[in-house]
Amino acid sequence: MTATPGPPAGDAIAAALLQITRHAERLALLDDREAQHYQQITERLREIAACLSEMSTCVDAAEGTITDQAAILASLDGLDEQVAAIATQLAELVPADGGNQDEGGAKPYQPIPTPQWWKLERDGRAEAIARLRAWVEMIYLPGYGRLAAMLAPCWDHHPLCLYTLDWLAELWSVVHLTPHRTAATLAGQSEWQTRLLPAAAEQMLMETTKCEHTQPAPTRRPAVADILGNGGQRPQRPAT
Ligand SMILES: [Zn+2]
Repeated sequence: MTATPGPPAGDAIAAALLQITRHAERLALLDDREAQHYQQITERLREIAACLSEMSTCVDAAEGTITDQAAILASLDGLDEQVAAIATQLAELVPADGGNQDEGGAKPYQPIPTPQWWKLERDGRAEAIARLRAWVEMIYLPGYGRLAAMLAPCWDHHPLCLYTLDWLAELWSVVHLTPHRTAATLAGQSEWQTRLLPAAAEQMLMETTKCEHTQPAPTRRPAVADILGNGGQRPQRPAT
């Protein structure tokens, strides 16, 4: 048996070089792939960083919104109490019957607009005076005895009497023509007759005493105290 002769030394070296070259190529390939991976990872990390930045901005915005909403809620705190207080004030201003209709459908009396005596002329003035005269003749003189009798026939020539009779008549209507009578209505009626009417009647009497519409009177016109103490005689005035 003879030994098989090995390859010549030169061939062995060439084979080794070839293998080394292949390893080097593989290593280069691996290096290349590793570089690509590194680049991909770097890009991925950049994307993640960008996402994190966006999320941070969103969180900041949400915090701002929450802060704003908290401020709004804080400003609303106590609003319900304010609304309740205003509602109470309105309820006190509006009559107990709601200012509209009572159960029977009747409306309470609504005062007319204030006559502007200081600038009313001719027809407007005559119309306003006619309204007062109707109340004086239908309600005041028939109903309020000696106090009403103190009203001078020339009352329509005295602005003070016009102002006075206006509120006197309107207030009378408010407290007497309201269909649903309440304790407040009753108090208003008593106040009108026992306090306001005597004061108003005396003011108008003072205004018209010895006025330019009065003919020289033989006797002094009576004061309230005289009228109330003279046995109920209605004061006499000369016609104007
Ligand atoms: Zn007069």
